[in-house]
Amino acid sequence: MNASLPAEAIAALTQETIYVTQPHLSPLEDFIPYLREIWESKVLTNGGPFHQRLEKALEDYLGVEHLALLSNGTLGLVTALQALRITGEVITTPYSFVATAHSLLWNGIKPVFVDVDPRTLNMDPAKIEAAITPQTTAILPVHCYGYPCDIDAIQKIADNYNLKVIYDAAHAFGVKQGGRSILRNGDLSVLSFHATKVFNTFEGGAIICPDAKTKQRVNHLKNFGFVDETTVVAPGINGKMSEINAAFGLLQLDHIDEALTRRRDISARYCEKLAQVKGIRCLPACDSEISNHSYFPILVEDDFPLTRDELFEKFRQHNIIVRRYFFPLISDFPMYRGLPTAQRSNLPVAGDAAQRVLCLPIFPAMTDDQLDRIMSIIESC
Ligand SMILES: *Cc1c(COP(=O)(O)O)cnc(C)c1O
Repeated sequence: MNASLPAEAIAALTQETIYVTQPHLSPLEDFIPYLREIWESKVLTNGGPFHQRLEKALEDYLGVEHLALLSNGTLGLVTALQALRITGEVITTPYSFVATAHSLLWNGIKPVFVDVDPRTLNMDPAKIEAAITPQTTAILPVHCYGYPCDIDAIQKIADNYNLKVIYDAAHAFGVKQGGRSILRNGDLSVLSFHATKVFNTFEGGAIICPDAKTKQRVNHLKNFGFVDETTVVAPGINGKMSEINAAFGLLQLDHIDEALTRRRDISARYCEKLAQVKGIRCLPACDSEISNHSYFPILVEDDFPLTRDELFEKFRQHNIIVRRYFFPLISDFPMYRGLPTAQRSNLPVAGDAAQRVLCLPIFPAMTDDQLDRIMSIIESC
């Protein structure tokens, strides 16, 4: 080994890498009977028995009705917009994963960005009204990091201006407020079951609908627009979840409560230790009872000895791969930055957060030792 490397760097090279997340996987041997059932029935997709069972099981678990499975969350967003026949302009947040705004472009809709609330980094309801024009038809907020948006304020504006509300609830699996699922709010909510999410089916997603009729429209749209063998009513897409993914979801659901409990414990341990660190701010998504602890975002403030990017690099040098969710802002990507509402002067809070945020590793298999290793890097700055 190179003798000129500092001892600290040599030690880091030999330490295991910790990624920001690690997919939660149920035991492989428990999945074999499900696979056997699929092989025996030869029903591979198109709303087969596992698809039906997972829809029912998720409705029961989440406390919702009329849940439609999809092959991923992005097609869920695209299909939700189609289901409500949204056109024109939609008000959304720049502080999210890029799929939120991409779903608008896929529907030929113009995104209108509004700034976020500095406390939660969710869409700031006080900024919505000024962004409404005669072309506005809907609001597309995100329950960022699984922390609920200001649902009442958003609904009040939607009602006043006759706008639809579609929640990007990709982070919000299992989140309840006042004992009630937050997925029941707005006109539709969209979940993602991607490998990196709290509940995963490898790839997958769902739309939570208010009634059977809306779910039926979603079902048509996710199956090319077919309503029966010879009738096509819309230019639908192929958004169906396969039987393998649905069966895996059923198995995962047996283990979700343990996974969520472990996330809560990790979050509490981080919060307790970070309370002693000057210049690091935790968001309500970290320490709230409401949150599902899908992420552990921190903000690096001016009185921390390092900048966010210096801390990011320091973690990398120690084989800890943290992520800057969300940086860059969606509004800074080439297909959005020309929009009038994408300008930095319109989005000061989101712009500042994007320069300060780091998501620390959190996943059910994470050990207390791993957490302590992560904390010791912050504490040694
Ligand atoms: C993951 C994610 C999506 C996309 O979901 P996929 O299942 O990966 O297509 C959309 N919005 C947000 C906020 C996400 O985090």
